[in-house]
Amino acid sequence: MTNRKHNFSAGPCTLPFEVLEEAQSEFVDYQGAGMSLIEMSHRGVHFDAVADEAMKMSMEVFEVPEDFSVLFLQGGAILQFSMIPMNLLHNGQKGAYVNSGTWAKGAITDAKQYGEVYTAWDGAENNYSRMPSSDELQMQDNTRYLHITTNETIGGIRFAEWPDVDVPLIGDMSSEYMARPIPWEKFDMVYGGAQKNLGPAGMAVVFVRKSILENTNQNIGRYLRYDIHESKDSMFNTPPVFPIYMFGKVLKWMKKEGGLAAMEAKASKKSSALYNAIDQSDGYYNCPVEVASRSHMNVVFRLPSEELEKKFIAESANEGLLNLKGHRSVGGCRASIYNALPYESVTALTQFMEAFRAANS
Ligand SMILES: *Cc1c(COP(=O)(O)O)cnc(C)c1O
Repeated sequence: MTNRKHNFSAGPCTLPFEVLEEAQSEFVDYQGAGMSLIEMSHRGVHFDAVADEAMKMSMEVFEVPEDFSVLFLQGGAILQFSMIPMNLLHNGQKGAYVNSGTWAKGAITDAKQYGEVYTAWDGAENNYSRMPSSDELQMQDNTRYLHITTNETIGGIRFAEWPDVDVPLIGDMSSEYMARPIPWEKFDMVYGGAQKNLGPAGMAVVFVRKSILENTNQNIGRYLRYDIHESKDSMFNTPPVFPIYMFGKVLKWMKKEGGLAAMEAKASKKSSALYNAIDQSDGYYNCPVEVASRSHMNVVFRLPSEELEKKFIAESANEGLLNLKGHRSVGGCRASIYNALPYESVTALTQFMEAFRAANS
């Protein structure tokens, strides 16, 4: 373990050490097959078992009811920005969107290419420092769904309370996937890129309510159709075999660690420790997010000047605390503390923050 650093990357990001070791140990000769998993047919017995297990485990660990199916798709979360309106917005229906920041804006931009879309609430006015309450949402007639970004990875805000509206929710959960339970009865779809809590890059994990597939648009290319992927168990074409394999291992690790409740408790403990370090710094560190909307996964903070932020990022890296630079679009600092990041990494960071403040104020 000696060379493992504290990795606060926003994604791809740190994965459980034991998962990496296990994958390494069985990589070259997968279960005596005489070849690795990424060299064999995706329709053979070995991969079949891997995919089957990953599907079952994802339903179990994320506590998904049986009226949903899970799909393993390529194109990341961003392809879903297009696939959702392509499949669901027809017959003149509208898509409602909460504009909560960078990723929500991307979802809106893409959806506009395929259907009638409106912004039910716009966070631009308060610089994306909070999520809306339900009574702030301005819903229109003939709305098919309300799309929310449950956690904005760049702005560091999350929905602490789920919106209460008369239409189904669709959630981009990329950066807090399987880090908290969700009220499935409110959702038609939940999706996200795997590379932030679930595994390596190269796959989107999509949960879709089965009943909506009877009424999706069929006048689009086959790969873009949810109903086809669902009817083929995500084997319509060659699936992302390595990400599915790693995802299965991460799920096993999550289950062993205590499942969703344990992930949520750990995230709450880690984020509290960091927000406390920020709030108790006499204003030296400052979090630009309203307290009620603070993310449990991406903790953003500023220092008194951009110069000090540069110094902070450089010196922390020297101490083995990596990837604390905020997204290039907003600057500042950001610590992404996904499920697999150990509590000790957060402790190392809060200690460094204290020492840095003492030396630089
Ligand atoms: C990272 C991210 C995306 C983009 O995911 P890709 O898998 O790179 O397409 C979309 N939405 C959110 C909330 C994200 O954090």
